[in-house]
This record gives sequence, structure tokens and C-alpha cells, in this order.
Amino acid sequence: MREPEQTQPDTIYAPATAAGRAAIAIIRLSGPASGPALRTLAGKSPPARVARHVRFRDPESGEDLDDGLALWFPGPGSVTGEDVAELHLHGSRGVLAAVMAALSRLGLRLAEPGEFTRRAFLNGKLDLTQAEAVADLAAAETEAQRRQALRQLDGSLGEIYRGWGERLLRLLAHLEAAIDFPDEDLPPAIEAEVAEGSRRLAAEIGRHLADGHRGERLRDGIAVAIVGPPNAGKSSLLNQLARREAAITSPIAGTTRDVIEVAIDLAGFPVVLADTAGLRDSADIIEQEGLRRALKHAEEAELRLFVFDATRPEDAKGAAAWPGPDTLLVANKIDLAAGQGTLPAGIIPVSALTGEGLPVLVAGLASRVGEIYDIAAPALTRARHREALETALAGLRRSVAAGLAELRAEDLRLAWRSLGRITGRVDVEDLLDVIFRDFCLGK
Ligand code: GDP
Repeated sequence: MREPEQTQPDTIYAPATAAGRAAIAIIRLSGPASGPALRTLAGKSPPARVARHVRFRDPESGEDLDDGLALWFPGPGSVTGEDVAELHLHGSRGVLAAVMAALSRLGLRLAEPGEFTRRAFLNGKLDLTQAEAVADLAAAETEAQRRQALRQLDGSLGEIYRGWGERLLRLLAHLEAAIDFPDEDLPPAIEAEVAEGSRRLAAEIGRHLADGHRGERLRDGIAVAIVGPPNAGKSSLLNQLARREAAITSPIAGTTRDVIEVAIDLAGFPVVLADTAGLRDSADIIEQEGLRRALKHAEEAELRLFVFDATRPEDAKGAAAWPGPDTLLVANKIDLAAGQGTLPAGIIPVSALTGEGLPVLVAGLASRVGEIYDIAAPALTRARHREALETALAGLRRSVAAGLAELRAEDLRLAWRSLGRITGRVDVEDLLDVIFRDFCLGK
């Protein structure tokens, strides 16, 4: 799909570290003028991939700009595939501004957002899933997000999609060969084999898609709804969990009047806790609307904490609306329930007032989240991938159902293109390669 850039690219630079005061700031250069610029500023070019202590000088005035380290990564074995240099400077605005001004005068250009990664992609250093992983890794707020992004950066997700693309290409090539070269000595069962292969691939992609949006949720936050009767202490519990057991990682915009959400880091997992309106029958129209939203939210959440007042154990029955391991039963206000006998097994006793039992609740929640999310297999992480996979799956299914071989081939081709769009690598030459390699047609 993409060709390497034909014209000589210009040379770009950008701070690789966050703006503001810091011990060190790094400016990264990429492109053919990186080497000359480095030599001009630092007086010499360090050996490849070795840090050298240098004095950076203004090329025009000869004035010293800073004292720091210089690194040189000649292409193509660099992060972008081009010649790359790194200037490690003191992390102040003054130093950065002076060095960047000098680079501009040398004809280098400030990079656009994402341009380094874009060049890495164009030079075949990364596929698109890996480029996206770079962004996810930079944005990861919790341990589980970091792990998922790193796994994607390793290329394991791209490998799965590329593997499917290759299988699809082979099916397509075989079918095309059967259509285009009917007189050749091709295995007779070829069309049946293609149909069987298509069915098998469709089943695999279908399974990958039916993962309950695991990877996407890990990226965006796992929804946990706090539900239960009014005054059971739901809001108090949310406050306790947000304040004491986990750091608030980011505020959530657009919370409704009836559902309050807080993003927390729960034992390394990004969790969005939602406090919902109390569940009870009400004639009040606004309360009914709140209740409707609460129920919908609870329904859509991955996990639920059903909170009831420990002094009213009969309220626990309300949890029957959500049976299964994804609803944890929480008896709150145990500070008031002393001497009331023991709670049935499986119910977690807490006090949102005194904090008693909260560590057990957090551990229980984290363990269930871990069971659902911390799996070894790479997961689908983006809506973009999901759409492309769904298109590919629809194509495969149409192809299996189609009568004419030409139509089957056309649907396989569409499916293959769609898969290729995920990693960003589709090439029609590939198709010809498979035809000729597998069959040696025409010799
Ligand atoms: P919600 O309607 O379920 O959100 O309940 P709230 O969090 O607003 O709590 C209702 C009342 O119960 C408030 O007066 C709280 O201070 C009180 N409360 C909440 N948790 C506890 C607890 O663990 N022990 C005691 N004694 N009171 C609590």
C-alpha cells in the first residue's frame, strides 16, 4: 500500500522530553542532515551509538550554548531508519530554545506530532499496530495498560493479523489460479480446499472479535458499577475507594446527574468506578429516570459491587438481578452490625466509615479483574482494528456463501485488503508471488 518516500526527506528535530524544567532535556534529530548538524553544533560526531560529553556551540556566533551529551545513530539501524542524533541538554526552556533556534538556522525543521513514528513506519521499522502502541505506551497510566501496549509494540498483535493476511492471500491466490489457469495441472480439489480454509479462518477471526472488547476496555478503563439500595453507603464507598485504595488517575468528563464516575488505578488495572442512583421503586419521575440509568449502567459494566446495609441483610436479595461471578456482594456499615451474627459466605463485609474490610474488597475486585483481563494472548485494542476485522470477516463469510468462483475471489480480495489495512502493508505483488511460488505456472 505504501511506497518508501522517493524524494530525499528533510531533516526534522523535536524535544523528546516533556516541556518545563527538568534535569535533562533531549532533542532528537532525524534525516540526512542530522550528522552534519551534530558535527556543526558539537564540533565532532561521536562514534555510533556511544554517548560523548560535548560542548554545544552556536555555529554563527561561536557562543557556548550548553554542556551535554551527544549520541549518533546512523541509518538504517536507527529508530526511524534514517540518520538520527540525540542531544542531551540541561532541561530548561532557555537551553532548549537556544539549541532549537540554532537547528532551525541550520535548515532543520521542527517535527510534526508523530512524525518520528511516521518515518519509522514508512521505513518499515514498525507496522501500524506498533505505531499505535508507541502512542498507547506513552499514554499508559497503569501497569496493565503498560503491559498491553508493550506487547503490542513487540509486534505480537501485528503478527497475528499478518499471519491471517498471509493465509487469506494464499487462499485467494489458489482460487485465482484455479480461475485463471483452468488448463494447467492444478490439484482438482482446490476450490473445496479454499472454501474449507476460508471457513476456518472466519471462525478464528470471529473468536478474536468475540472477546468482549477486552483489549479496548483495558485501554480505556474497565467499568465497575456500584449498585444497591439507597443509603447503603454507595457514595461513601466510592469516595473511600477513590481516595484511600487507589490514586485518581484522571477526571472523567461528562458525568451525568445520576451516574458519577471516577477513574482509579486498581492494583495496576485502569478501572472506571461508577456510583449509581439508589435502586428502589419510586413514583418520582426524575428518580425513575435516575433508576433507569443506574440499571443500564449496571447492566453494561464489566463488574458490579452490589452494596447493601449490613443491618438490613434482607436487602442482599436485590443482587439477584445480576447473578454470576461478576457481581460482588458487599455488606456495608459493619461497624453498626456488630453482634448481628455472621454473614453468609461470599459476602464481603466492609465499613465505608471506618475503612474496615476495604483491603479485602479491593483484593477481591482486583482478583476478578485479573481473571478477566490479564491474559497472555494479545487482545484487540482499537476500534480501528475491530472495524477492519469485521469487514474481513464479512468478506470471508460472503465468499464461503457465494456461488461463482469469481465472486468468491472478489470477496476474498476485499477481506485481504481489509486485514492489510490494520498493519498498513498490502501489496498486490504479494499475490503474484504466491501464485508463482506455489504453482510455478508457466515456469
Ligand atoms: P448511598 O445513598 O448508597 O450513596 O449512601 P451514602 O454513601 O450517601 O450513605 C448514606 C448514609 O450512610 C450517610 O449518612 C453515610 O455517612 C452513612 N454511611 C455510609 N457508610 C457507612 C458505614 O460504613 N458505617 C456507618 N455507620 N455509616 C455509613
